[in-house]
Amino acid sequence: MNNKDCFDICIIGAGVVGLATAYELAKKFAKRNVSIVVLEQEPSFGQHTSSRNSEVIHAGIYYPEASLKAKLCVAGKELLYAHCTQFDIPHKKIGKLIVAQQSEISALEKIHSGAASNGVMDLQFLDKTQLKKLEPEVNAEAALLSPSTGIIDSHSYMQSLLHLAENLGVQFSPFSRVQKILAKDEGFTVECLLDENRKPEAYAFDCSYLVNAAGLRAQALAQTIDAIPAQAIPALYYCKGDYFDYRGANPFKHLIYPMPETNTTGLGVHATMDLASQLKFGPDTEYVDQAKFEIEADKAEVFAKSIASYFPAIKAGDLKPAYAGIRPKLAGPGEPPADFIIQDQSVHGLHGLTQLFGIESPGLTASLAIAKRIVEGVSI
Ligand SMILES: Cc1cc2nc3c(=O)[nH]c(=O)nc-3n(C[C@H](O)[C@H](O)[C@H](O)COP(=O)(O)OP(=O)(O)OC[C@H]3O[C@@H](n4cnc5c(N)ncnc54)[C@H](O)[C@@H]3O)c2cc1C
Repeated sequence: MNNKDCFDICIIGAGVVGLATAYELAKKFAKRNVSIVVLEQEPSFGQHTSSRNSEVIHAGIYYPEASLKAKLCVAGKELLYAHCTQFDIPHKKIGKLIVAQQSEISALEKIHSGAASNGVMDLQFLDKTQLKKLEPEVNAEAALLSPSTGIIDSHSYMQSLLHLAENLGVQFSPFSRVQKILAKDEGFTVECLLDENRKPEAYAFDCSYLVNAAGLRAQALAQTIDAIPAQAIPALYYCKGDYFDYRGANPFKHLIYPMPETNTTGLGVHATMDLASQLKFGPDTEYVDQAKFEIEADKAEVFAKSIASYFPAIKAGDLKPAYAGIRPKLAGPGEPPADFIIQDQSVHGLHGLTQLFGIESPGLTASLAIAKRIVEGVSI
């Protein structure tokens, strides 16, 4: 980091949302001399939730009408596909099937009409014969085909955001953990610990505008700001999702999703794949007290049982523990699902501060739309 003690804008967190925000801010102020810094506690960008997800570009099907999740997913999907095309980011509009058994068909129809309310108009209802033609290995009575669902190389996407932002003058500072934020009459003082594992050094600087995009640590960071009322900081629940790789050849051409869990904590253990066609299953949902990423190998039995409802050929021995991610949920077990929170002065009372809470799925898909929403509110 430069020996500079004042920035116009500071973004805390170089996950996909912090990076998208940096890029959109840099574009907005490209013709002005506005200094922007992105602070990241890790050695590199995107090492937390942004690299521990399904890498699916969601269509915007399930979220409640008019919610931020629905609006920003639908808008974000278009922005993301356009970005991928413009900057050659590996991606594929592979399509997704939501598959239903006989007893689930009316719920599937509800999903169809809910998606239309969100502006997702391209879903196609398939009967058993049509489904079998597309995916012979799938056992279900009916399905919805979402042609605009896709997969993306999220690392390349984040790399592109960082490079584009840096080319527009944004300064990226890895190894920089923010420990405390002081709200001043105007702006903020940000206190960091640099290089904590090798040569720790305290560093503080001032900024006029601050974006808290710290993901799983967003609430903890907000709690360091004395001027924020406690009731403005939403409760946070960690909800772990495990993935298992499939050992055999991938029998599917589409992403295959069962019906979402009835409590809507998750989308159900689905079949997804990366751009090399490696099939994986997950994520499940498990509320945990702290961030941990180990996968219990004997969970393969539970996964196989759940997957067998739509892919009868699966065996527990076909599944190999892969990786896990943690959702920063704002709703606890059994509570109704919560929306994204993009919080500004009207809630916490501090001019120049935007805080992001509960940016779980579809945060990757929505990242550019979230960024544009934040940037609209920044005037310098
Ligand atoms: C299991 C799972 C599956 C998912 N699947 C999908 C999907 O298929 N499609 C989709 O659209 N979305 C998906 N998501 C959601 C998506 O991954 C997230 O919404 C997105 O990655 C959130 O990005 P972020 O930048 O907000 O957070 P993060 O990626 O967590 O980034 C926050 C960053 O802040 C840094 N940080 C934290 N505290 C500090 C501090 N004090 N100082 C400095 N830096 C700090 C962290 O190191 C981290 O790099 C999934 C999520 C999970 C958990």
